[in-house]
Amino acid sequence: MADLHEFYPLRRHNTFGFDVRARFAAHVRSEDDLVAALADPRVAGLPVLVLGGGSNVVLTADLQALVLLMEIPGFSARASETAWLVTAGAGENWHALVCRTVTEGMPGLENLALIPGTAGAAPIQNIGAYGVELRERFASLRAYDRASGTFVELDAAQCAFGYRDSLFKQAGKDRYIITAVTLRLPRPWQAVLGYAELARELHDEPAPGAAAILDAVVAIRSRKLPDPTRIGNAGSFFKNPVVSAAQGAALLAVHPGMAHYTQADGRIKLAAGWLIDQCGFKGVRDGAVGVYEKQALVLVHHGGGNGAQLLALSTRIADAVQARFGVRIEPEPVVL
Ligand SMILES: Cc1cc2nc3c(=O)[nH]c(=O)nc-3n(C[C@H](O)[C@H](O)[C@H](O)COP(=O)(O)OP(=O)(O)OC[C@H]3O[C@@H](n4cnc5c(N)ncnc54)[C@H](O)[C@@H]3O)c2cc1C
Repeated sequence: MADLHEFYPLRRHNTFGFDVRARFAAHVRSEDDLVAALADPRVAGLPVLVLGGGSNVVLTADLQALVLLMEIPGFSARASETAWLVTAGAGENWHALVCRTVTEGMPGLENLALIPGTAGAAPIQNIGAYGVELRERFASLRAYDRASGTFVELDAAQCAFGYRDSLFKQAGKDRYIITAVTLRLPRPWQAVLGYAELARELHDEPAPGAAAILDAVVAIRSRKLPDPTRIGNAGSFFKNPVVSAAQGAALLAVHPGMAHYTQADGRIKLAAGWLIDQCGFKGVRDGAVGVYEKQALVLVHHGGGNGAQLLALSTRIADAVQARFGVRIEPEPVVL
């Protein structure tokens, strides 16, 4: 029988700090732990939910489920002519992995520094920041396929990565439990400095090293984003909406100052934070939940509240943005 915990408190397993319980929880430190937990007769028929660092979920109520707490360790690296291939256990802390690869002379992840959570969750929404997305540094992953009851290897094409999206949020939702991720860090390394804010932080230095870029990303993020150990949050709460070229042009005609980024296909990505800010939500507090005072894209939990209150606020914000701009903004975190 697996080592299962009944009515397990999840407050320390989600960065909003919502106080909900799992009917059963298992600390998964190996693939054997995973198989044992799933096969335990006490959880037969219960839904299965997977948690890494809990930095991209909204827990709205007690979970009548088996919750797998992914803590599988592991780090190995090998070099080929064209890349370093780094494999990390699903439970490895993402930022620690970024720091380790840079320190050990395998740069390429520095733009993704300080994103909370685990290596195993990074492919789920194809994490991205400061001009780099996981898919550009991804080789393959190993996962338990609940449909076939076997372990499988999936490459980048099979993972169907998109903007904050992948197979695991679409056709493969609830099917795969990732146990390890292999990253491909191209050699020779090339700095990615397209973000003006990042270049400024580096004082427009023409050839900064990976460690300097990592430090700059950490400095910017520490200024802009609330530390989840101090105030509950899940980072950006809404995805940036992408509208047609025609709708974008119509909006720009009315709001010339609107933050926007033209995509390769001509569509226009809008800054959700700007839209929310224009609707007057920055710093608004609604009981135990609210909008971060420095960044309208981040919803926060001040303590003593719950996920349902947070979702109610998020709907109020999305409705206001829709009424003013005719654009629907969608939450980024997974609601469990
Ligand atoms: C302050 C802050 C800043 C952030 N900044 C960014 C950012 O810049 N860019 C960005 O992309 N994200 C950002 N995020 C969001 C978040 O950190 C990432 O999405 C991260 O990858 C989530 O990792 P996690 O381990 O906490 O996943 P969790 O929140 O535990 O899980 C997220 C989803 O992944 C699933 N999952 C987790 N582990 C596994 C696994 N091993 N196998 C299968 N499914 C799994 C869960 O079931 C859930 O659906 C930020 C969050 C915070 C709090």
